[in-house]
Amino acid sequence: MVRQVSLDVIQASLIANEVDGRQARVYVRHLLEQSASAQNLPNSEYQIDPRDGTVSIYSSARSKRVHTVKTSTVAADDGDNCPICNGQLTGVCHIEPLSQGHCFITENLYPVVHPRGMFVPISQNFSTTETADEAARGGNIFGGHFLQWTSSIHTQDWHNMSLDDLTLSVKQLALFSLRIHTESESMPQALGTRENTHGYMSIFKNYGEKGGASLTHGHQQIVFSNLMGRSSYNNWRFYGRHCEYFSDYMLRENSQDLKIKDYGDIVLMVPYFMHRPYTMLVIVKQTQKGYLHQLSDDEVTQFTQAIQHAIRAVRHELAADGKPIAFNFLLHTGPGCGLYAEIIPRADTFGGLELQGTYVCQAQPEDCALRIKKTIANDFSEEVF
Ligand SMILES: [Zn+2]
Repeated sequence: MVRQVSLDVIQASLIANEVDGRQARVYVRHLLEQSASAQNLPNSEYQIDPRDGTVSIYSSARSKRVHTVKTSTVAADDGDNCPICNGQLTGVCHIEPLSQGHCFITENLYPVVHPRGMFVPISQNFSTTETADEAARGGNIFGGHFLQWTSSIHTQDWHNMSLDDLTLSVKQLALFSLRIHTESESMPQALGTRENTHGYMSIFKNYGEKGGASLTHGHQQIVFSNLMGRSSYNNWRFYGRHCEYFSDYMLRENSQDLKIKDYGDIVLMVPYFMHRPYTMLVIVKQTQKGYLHQLSDDEVTQFTQAIQHAIRAVRHELAADGKPIAFNFLLHTGPGCGLYAEIIPRADTFGGLELQGTYVCQAQPEDCALRIKKTIANDFSEEVF
């Protein structure tokens, strides 16, 4: 029997009601006063590698995660051993009814950032000179780390849910990010935004063990902090160097042969600089829109459909190549960035050269684009999934 967590169980852990208003304050109060994650507080410090800007966030508590230290492979399962289906939930921030089950957002039991980080003194100062470049130094990192469970039903996720239900889950993300960005007034104002937008948000999905997923129940990660994440920084830096958004650059410069599908307001493409076979970008044509909540209803639906097509195609091609299904999908959002999603297959082990930053890609972008176009045109015969 397919397992799921019931609405009653989800509601029992709900920390905020819609009528409360000022939701972000409720979340922060819960995280500071009652949170289960308080047992697993991160060190709340980050440092930057001055050579290339690589950021390290320190969280010794995460070494306690069972799924991080395990050595055996997590097999695909039907939820029998799933803590979510077994009702072991942390605080629930928001519930969205779907045609089947619910999608919901919880705090992360092992957060990489936490509101308490604002008050943690960083004891070690590695600087030996007064004139050190402060911008290149680390410091306190604080914020909130949340998980969006795509469905309360264990086996439901992006590849097999209806477009209507997935669109509702993306709208839930949009509402959640709008509230957090606009209500978190103790966060620094986000760079380069004219709106009253605070902090930086990373939204991403890990699927499969090689994609970094420690739980098999389908979910998205939401990390909100005072530190601009590396992917956001890359977009910001691109904008600073080129005076145009990366999305505009790709819409103009990427070969038409690499375009998979034009949905009207959204384009699905293989980037010409593909690191791994079947890497795809989903780009919003209105590049002045940098946040999910700025999308129209039509744009949200098309954006969701394009991401679903990309995820299903990645699953199909990896399976056809005899590889494990593993990927990340990353939402590029925030300042200096037209909104876009990146789907990155993670089936291949990194080679030594790759671990040092140079990819050795095992296929040509145009060949991958051709295969994906055929797969999507064939309308995903059911037996594939
Ligand atoms: Zn489950």
